[in-house]
Amino acid sequence: MKSNSGSYIQLKGIDFTFDEMKESRERNGLLRIGVAIGEGGKKRQCNSRCPYCFEEKETIIKKFSLKQINSIVKEAKSLGAKTIVIIGFGEPLIPSRLEETFLAIEIINKSKLIPILFTNGLSMNKEIASKLHELNTSIVTKLNSFNPIVQDYLTRSKNSLERMKGSIKILMDTGFNKTSPTRLGLETPIFFDNSNELPRIAKFCMKNNIYPYFEALKFTGEIRKNPHLYLNREKVRKSLESVMSLYPNIFGTNGIAYIPQGRCCLQHYYGSLFITPNGIFPCSGVNYSLGNIRNTKLREALNSEIIHKLRNLHIHLQGKCKDCKHAKDNNKNAPLCFGGCRGNTFNLTGNLYDEDPLCWRN
Ligand code: SF4
Ligand code: SF4
Repeated sequence: MKSNSGSYIQLKGIDFTFDEMKESRERNGLLRIGVAIGEGGKKRQCNSRCPYCFEEKETIIKKFSLKQINSIVKEAKSLGAKTIVIIGFGEPLIPSRLEETFLAIEIINKSKLIPILFTNGLSMNKEIASKLHELNTSIVTKLNSFNPIVQDYLTRSKNSLERMKGSIKILMDTGFNKTSPTRLGLETPIFFDNSNELPRIAKFCMKNNIYPYFEALKFTGEIRKNPHLYLNREKVRKSLESVMSLYPNIFGTNGIAYIPQGRCCLQHYYGSLFITPNGIFPCSGVNYSLGNIRNTKLREALNSEIIHKLRNLHIHLQGKCKDCKHAKDNNKNAPLCFGGCRGNTFNLTGNLYDEDPLCWRN
């Protein structure tokens, strides 16, 4: 087994130490934010039609101007952010959006913050990869399956497996996986159709110093229309245990309590907000706006009661999460789990502090 940080692979930009997380929490600051660039909703531009896309497409969402992105990045930096994740809307590397994507990344890079870009990889080429590399970007590209039929079904796009494999090769040839921590991640949402392939994908990541970003789906957006793709918690447990029997430390030295997003999600612990032209949200999965960037400062959002409670979840968790040993906050190490996924909990129960109904550990 090969890894770049002791026993497990970390991605540059989210490789925070526990001291950094604790310090950010104590001063009620941030370590990262997510920003949606491009137009959302009905005007979303994408080269794929994933049947599990997390975006709600009913409304039209106008995009941020570069001036607005600049001011968001500036304020996030003043609150301690080290990383800006570009997540949504649509695919940022299609030709019609390339220029604005690079302009946004240049703003982040000039501010000496780390850009992380999520892409489906379908439009990747050598020129794009080399420019992203120069701009200090970490990339999370996608691979759902090594089966071409399953992969095409999950993107609704032709020849997608070969194109995604091509993207991974170009990114590796450009050197994204040659650093420590690595700058290359592979995002694999777990579905009914690919759940038995996780060990193979994990092996590929471990061999090539690629951050394995397995993700249990959020019950939001298109997945509501395609519930047959959604795995129940027993199936998630089975597929993840098959990975951990091969690589016991793949998700961290102490094993993993929950896997909403690569490994246990600590975003609410260390401080992170998701910002779109429609609002400032606690994270990309919790569809509860804390205000709009046009009239609300990020600092005000951080000072809200909701964020305060989410940062101190161990006090407010209910149900099974309340007394769960994995969620204990001992101030010496990061909790193994911090209430699972609040996005899923909110979407499925309407109560932000309820037990996570999809926890596969308890
Ligand atoms: S709580 Fe869930 S939706 Fe929110 S950032 Fe964590 S994994 Fe994502
Ligand atoms: S019961 Fe809650 S806190 Fe415990 S492992 Fe499950 S999701 Fe995490």
